[in-house]
Amino acid sequence: MNRTYTTDIPKHENQQVTLMGWVDARRDHGKLLFIDLRDRTGLAQVVFFAGQKELYQQADTLRPEWVIKITGTVQKRPEAMKNPNLATGEWELGASSLTIFNKSETPPFDLTGDGYDIGEETRMKYRYLDLRRGRLQKNMRLRHKIAMFIREYLTVRDFVEITTPILSKTTPEGARDFLVPSRLHKGSVYALPQSPQQYKQLLMIAGFERYFQFPHCFRDEDSRADRAFGEFTQLDIEMSFVEQEDILGLTEALFTELVETLFPHKRIKEKPWPRLSHKEATQTYGTDKPDLRDNKNNPDELAFAWIVDFPLFTEQSEKDFFHGSGNAKFAPSHHMFTAPHPDDTALLDTNPQKVRGLQHDMVLNGFEVGGGSIRIHDPVVQEKVFSLIGFSEEQKKQFHHMLTAFTYGVPPHGGIAPGFDRFLYVLLGEPNLREVMAFPKTGDGRDLMMEAPSSATEEQLNELGIQIKKHV
Ligand code: ASP
Repeated sequence: MNRTYTTDIPKHENQQVTLMGWVDARRDHGKLLFIDLRDRTGLAQVVFFAGQKELYQQADTLRPEWVIKITGTVQKRPEAMKNPNLATGEWELGASSLTIFNKSETPPFDLTGDGYDIGEETRMKYRYLDLRRGRLQKNMRLRHKIAMFIREYLTVRDFVEITTPILSKTTPEGARDFLVPSRLHKGSVYALPQSPQQYKQLLMIAGFERYFQFPHCFRDEDSRADRAFGEFTQLDIEMSFVEQEDILGLTEALFTELVETLFPHKRIKEKPWPRLSHKEATQTYGTDKPDLRDNKNNPDELAFAWIVDFPLFTEQSEKDFFHGSGNAKFAPSHHMFTAPHPDDTALLDTNPQKVRGLQHDMVLNGFEVGGGSIRIHDPVVQEKVFSLIGFSEEQKKQFHHMLTAFTYGVPPHGGIAPGFDRFLYVLLGEPNLREVMAFPKTGDGRDLMMEAPSSATEEQLNELGIQIKKHV
């Protein structure tokens, strides 16, 4: 289709062009009818004259959100009609023909503002309309731009983007798994990955040395303001033949360059990022994710920090949902593949509580936006950690593939996984994570637009060999 974008009309003064898009607004001035036409690039004003009879009558039927095509001549607006707030505000299109592709019902809410004051349930039910608003269009496009920056940054440094499976087996990140029943293997289930942790370590054993992807991670846990329900996206990174310093260095350089290139108006408070031990952070700030900003009301201030030297284990509490290892004394403070500090390995046998882990958390403005570690690559140490967190022989067998893989030549390796949605939400200063996700779920796990979760048919359940126990 021969089409000009609204933002390009200044380049076509006195020429005939065809614009396509949505009616953003309409203003009736008696002898003149104005339409603001919206496409993915912006807005342009179109004018119809009463003298154009048939065309004017047709234009008079237009309502917001109708999808149309307009051909006309680009002209300079009279001085008094110029709109300095609009990129195309000095020009308008004098319409000569109009095609209506599609009409629209009146939207259930206003699409022109920022939308913060509209009930979120309605916004989510009609998310495809909510996404038309400028703020969300901008957030989604920024999200893409940031992802592309990261892709490029890592690709030129020889990282390979590899997609790992969604239908998988339980992955231990300390949350509950989402399970998918298998039809071909009745009674068995797949687990959706809580993160690609095991796969990325296996990719190191496979010799890739530098891996990344933007995986969807699935965790069945109750939502909080800084967590989306059910699924979220990470930037998952793993590297071989590295020490903790290399991972911190790469991540810090990547995020610093990203902010300075794409958000030059934002200021990173301290470079290099301050590093605090877990003990220092908790003693000084009472938290392991301190907010180090000078001015917490300044949306352009970014205070990154690293927290290191975490204890390898925490006391296992009753609410630790931890793969049934229930009655053990310890739970990993990060996850079970994190390596002990080399100076503390001997303490694993005598005083595990004192062992520090080679874990690193990335903190931004008081939020933990990422975590990672150097991994255990010695099967003996891995077995020891499994025992300390109370794994039975049966549970150890679940990770048999890891222990076996460890016997075939493992490079020292480690990585990190900044939360992609989480980073964006803090960076853009949005009030919740859903504002940076295209199709988020409600806090209690419903997709109001798709009406998920929904019940399965008898036939589907039969095929899966599943019977539903009705709640009474
Ligand atoms: N798999 C970890 C997580 O999802 C990150 C890592 O250790 O690289 O938090």
